[in-house]
Amino acid sequence: MPIIKGAPVAEAISADTLKRAETLKADGIEPCLAIIRVGEDGSQLAYERGAVKRMDKCGIKCRICALDENISQADFVNEFKKINDDESVHGILLLQPLPKTLSIEPLKDIINPLKDVDAISPMNMYKILANDKTGHAPCTAEGVIEILDWMGMDLKGKKCKVIGRSMIVGKPLGLLLLSKDATVTYCHSKTRELAKETRDADVLIAAAGSAKLVGADFVNENMTVIDVGVNVDENGKLCGDVDFEAVEPLVANITPVPGGTGAVTTSVLAKHVVKAAELLRK
Ligand code: NAP
Repeated sequence: MPIIKGAPVAEAISADTLKRAETLKADGIEPCLAIIRVGEDGSQLAYERGAVKRMDKCGIKCRICALDENISQADFVNEFKKINDDESVHGILLLQPLPKTLSIEPLKDIINPLKDVDAISPMNMYKILANDKTGHAPCTAEGVIEILDWMGMDLKGKKCKVIGRSMIVGKPLGLLLLSKDATVTYCHSKTRELAKETRDADVLIAAAGSAKLVGADFVNENMTVIDVGVNVDENGKLCGDVDFEAVEPLVANITPVPGGTGAVTTSVLAKHVVKAAELLRK
């Protein structure tokens, strides 16, 4: 059944973002993303490299703010404030999780919502609730919508079931689907008979962080399955929340892991930085 890869979606978003970045540059504004990293976590460094590459492709400058993992909470907040106040920075990405000694909580209220390109602030969460397009949604959640849009899917009245209700993926994604007139169901760890619950969906999105949770009994032949999960299987191989081998022959469309939703996230990030630069100019 059609396998929907993320790369062409990412390329389409990036091409449009590059044009907008060039328009800004012609007006003397160089869009800039600051990436804040505390420590040297391997997966954060890998994500950072991907983001830097993508920003470069989209004509966006990147500034890496690498902080020592032993930084105090007070110094961390001060460094964050400096970046937030810097007029040459249009977007801020804070890599997570933070070391256990640090709290993200005060930053949620400090960050300029326009620069909050991965939606940690309450203002951006509110704007998703209110369907106010001047806000930013978390990049991964918006990336799922980009994939469905790219497929040309009209979500009006469609049964969309989201497995996962985190603040960064599941919850905002459900709201974005709702704003497209889908009928949305959230499933989570307390959902009874999960397979039975998802089986009649038109679109099933798995964002649970549980390797191969979605099996053959979760799906139907007309279903589009979007896999957001990033896990490691019993053989140490990267895998999603969907048992791809079992599910792929049984559904209408499916995204793979790797090479699916993950590939789209940094393009959405770039799009948000350019949007932020446009909004900050006004
Ligand atoms: P999370 O904060 O751990 O949330 C997981 C959600 O899935 C929770 O709502 C949990 O339910 C639910 N869940 C977990 N196991 C389940 C099960 N067996 N059955 C039904 N529901 C279950 O994870 P996350 O940050 O949203 O990320 C989800 C996945 O997406 C992960 O694999 C992650 O690597 C991947 N991902 C995350 C990001 C990101 O920016 N965070 C980006 C890209 C990909 P409860 O609420 O009841 O506990």
